[in-house]
Amino acid sequence: MTRETYRSISLYAPNRAPAAIDLSDNTNLWGVPPAALRAITDAASGTITRYPALYAADVKQAIADYVGLPPEMVVTGCGSDDVLDSAIRAFGEPGDVVAYPDPSFAMIPIFAQMNGLVGAPIPLTAQYDADVKRYIETNATISYLCSPNNPTGASFSRDAIERVASGMTGIVIIDEAYAEFAGWNCLDLLARFPRVVITRTLSKAFGLAGLRVGYALGDPELVAEIEKSRGPYKVNAIAQHAAVAALTADRAWVDRHVQDAIVNRDRLRESLTAIGLEPLPSESNFVLVPVRNAAELDRQLRTRGIAVRPFVALPNIGDALRISVGPWQLLEECIAALQECAT
Ligand code: PMP
Repeated sequence: MTRETYRSISLYAPNRAPAAIDLSDNTNLWGVPPAALRAITDAASGTITRYPALYAADVKQAIADYVGLPPEMVVTGCGSDDVLDSAIRAFGEPGDVVAYPDPSFAMIPIFAQMNGLVGAPIPLTAQYDADVKRYIETNATISYLCSPNNPTGASFSRDAIERVASGMTGIVIIDEAYAEFAGWNCLDLLARFPRVVITRTLSKAFGLAGLRVGYALGDPELVAEIEKSRGPYKVNAIAQHAAVAALTADRAWVDRHVQDAIVNRDRLRESLTAIGLEPLPSESNFVLVPVRNAAELDRQLRTRGIAVRPFVALPNIGDALRISVGPWQLLEECIAALQECAT
């Protein structure tokens, strides 16, 4: 990568300041699942001095049980960031095209660029859906979909996802980082489309963002390629213990707070509408709301101790704030601050 390429990676912001109320990163604001927390505090010293399982076999098995697929169809990574980066490296040669929705998860064009591939941004349709025709026109080696999509919060339609899966000749990655909050997912497509890979994470519904555990699901041959490209030891020993505990013993806790997030998400959208804003539809644990000047509003919210994620000039949306959903008390403070500053 050239020095110019490195400089152009605009998301690199090592000094991002913390805030008292942080609604900026769509993590689980209800806390750590209890069995996972016990696994962390009880970790034996042998867990620290030895290397972890090479490819996190126990985590794979726990994920396999959670999603109802064999462990050969699972690969883990240091967050789904790592899994996505490894997948792009595994399936793309330098110069190949990665098609992705615009706007969507900001790391995708960066992973494409860092691996020498060429990004092809595809504007969303007016319904915030994937534009199938334009995907197919790119003839991309790797097509990335994200449902529910970040930052819009809206899911892609089942129809558009299926048409991309059947219409592309290359690999189709469906990022389901937020699928638990949508109440539906694309797991069944894996049996019908052997070139589809689904990525997921324990950073959102499972409340383990700080431990960095993500995974991908797909045909065993594809999964093995991602694993080779990822390399050994990427999920650390404590993260492996906590992930197994969360996936096996904390499911009721996770489900309860997913339900809380869904209720508060819909309530947040109603409250934003009541103060004159027009939030986008959401099937995730965050809400995107268009505003006049996102950068300025972000500054004003930060002086009140509230962090959200500002977006400037999103295609077909304009400036917008992305607000993570959490316990109502936090959202209430954010809504009150927005009422003061944005309306
Ligand atoms: N995909 C999407 C759509 C995301 O929003 C994020 C994180 N914000 C990720 C992947 C990466 O998450 P993680 O690396 O924590 O698994």
